[in-house]
Amino acid sequence: MELYYKTISELEELLDSGEISAVELAKAFIDRKNAVDGKVGAFLSSDEGGLLAAAAESDARRARGQKRGALEGIPVGLKDVLAVRGQKLTCASKILENYVSPYTASSLEKLESRGGLFWGRLNMDEFAMGSSCENSAFKLTRNPWDLSRIPGGSSGGAAAAVAAGECAASLGSDTGGSIRQPASLCGVVGMKPTYGLVSRYGLAAFASSLDQIGPFARCVRDAAILLEAVAGHDPRDSTSVKTDIPDYAANLSLEAFKGKKIGLPKEYFSAGIDPEVRGIVEKAVSDCRALGAEVEEISLPHTDLAIPVYYIIATAEASSNLARYDGVRYTRRSPSTTDVIDMYFKSRAEGFGEEVKRRIILGSYVLSSGYYDAYYLRAQKVRTLIRRDFEDAFGRVDVIMTPTSPTTAFKIGEKTSDPLAMYLSDICTINVNLAGLPGISVPCGFSSEGLPVGLQMIGKAFDEQNLLSFAASYEAARGFDSREPNL
Ligand code: GLN
Repeated sequence: MELYYKTISELEELLDSGEISAVELAKAFIDRKNAVDGKVGAFLSSDEGGLLAAAAESDARRARGQKRGALEGIPVGLKDVLAVRGQKLTCASKILENYVSPYTASSLEKLESRGGLFWGRLNMDEFAMGSSCENSAFKLTRNPWDLSRIPGGSSGGAAAAVAAGECAASLGSDTGGSIRQPASLCGVVGMKPTYGLVSRYGLAAFASSLDQIGPFARCVRDAAILLEAVAGHDPRDSTSVKTDIPDYAANLSLEAFKGKKIGLPKEYFSAGIDPEVRGIVEKAVSDCRALGAEVEEISLPHTDLAIPVYYIIATAEASSNLARYDGVRYTRRSPSTTDVIDMYFKSRAEGFGEEVKRRIILGSYVLSSGYYDAYYLRAQKVRTLIRRDFEDAFGRVDVIMTPTSPTTAFKIGEKTSDPLAMYLSDICTINVNLAGLPGISVPCGFSSEGLPVGLQMIGKAFDEQNLLSFAASYEAARGFDSREPNL
C-alpha cells in the first residue's frame, strides 16, 4: 500500500524501525499533493520547504532518541481557520485575504509538542459557514470519490485532503457538523469533541458557544492520537475545561459493545433521510448489536427544533464575532471611501461573501431590541430542552447512533441557490453542538453510486474514551471493503 494511505500508527512503525525517514514521508505527501490536488483542490496554501525542514528536524530528534510523541514526523493539515504565526489566516474570505497571524493556535502548538508537522492550509466555507465548501472565496474543493460532487463542509478541504492521501490527518472545526458531515461524505473518520475539551485559542470564531476543534483521520485510532494531543486545559481559553486527558489510543477497547445499550433516536431515521443511507446505517447498527450490544429505540423529542434554534444562536454569535472585521484592523480596506462610516460599509460589503452577509443580517436582527426576547432568548430556552433530551436519553443508553448526513455527497451547484436545502445537510449533527456533546463519524459503507456513508455515534459529555472505543470496535468488525478513491 502507498505510504500516503497508511495510518499514523503504521507510519510510526516504519519511522521507528528506520525503514523510512520523516523527510521521505514528507516527500511522499508533497508528491501526492502535487499529483492530485489539481483535481481535488483541498489546499489553499502549502510550504514544501517548511515541511521538509521540519521533517529533517524530526529525523534528527529521532536519531538523538528524543522522539517527542505519537505524531513524530507526521504531516498534519489545518483548516484555514487556525492561526499559525507568520502565516496567512484567511478563513477562505476575501476580507482576510492578506491577514497574517501574529501567534499560533494552541492546538497546533500541542500537535507539534507530540512531533506533528504542520503541512498546509486547507479550504473551507467562508468563516466556516456552509455544508459543501462552495462558499470559499478562493477555490472549489471536489470530493475525491467523485470529482463532480462536493466534499461537504465547512471543513471540506480538511476532509478531502485526508481522503485523497494528501496528508496523514488534519484538524478542522465543527460548529454544527463541519467536521462530521464532510468526514462522512469523504469516507474518513471525523470527530467533534465535547465543548470545552479542546482549547479554541487561535481558532477564528464563528459561533463561540458551539465551535470546537477536532481531528480528521484515516481510522479511529489515529483520531484518538490526534485528540489526545490537542485536548486539555489551556489558560488562554476560559471555556477550556480542567479535566484529565487519558491516553485515548492506548486505552481503546475493541470489545466496547459487550453489555452496552445503543439508543436509536426515531427522529433521525424518519422522512428526510435518504432511504439508501438509512439502510446502510441500520446495517451498521445491527453489526454493533452483533458485537454484544442491546439496541433500544429512543426519542429526542425536540430534534425538529434544532435547525431553527441553531440558525438563531449561530447567526447571533457570528454577527457579533464578525463585527471586528471592519476595514480598520485585520482586514482589507476598501480603496475608495469618503469617510469612516463609508469605509466600514464598503470594506464589509466588498470583503464578505453572500452567505456571510446573510448570516450577519439574520444575527443582527435576532439580537435587535424588540426581537431579542422573541427569538434569541427563546432559542436559548429551546436549546436547554434539546440538551435535556440527551441527558434523559443517556440515563438509559450508553451511546446514540444516527446517520451523520441525510444524504451522500451531492453534485456541485445542486444546492447553492437554495440556502434552506443546504442548511438541512446538518440536520443530524447540529443537535450535538447545541447540547455540547462529543460525536464521531465513522465510515460504514458505500451507496450504489460508490459514495461513502458515515455512521454518527454520540457520547456522553467528556466520555470521549468510551465513544472512541465504540467507534474502534465497530471499525474493527465492520464488513465492507476498505477501498480508496480512484484519483
Ligand atoms: N453547515 C453549518 C453551517 O453552515 C455548520 C457549519 C459548521 O459546523 N462550521 O453553519
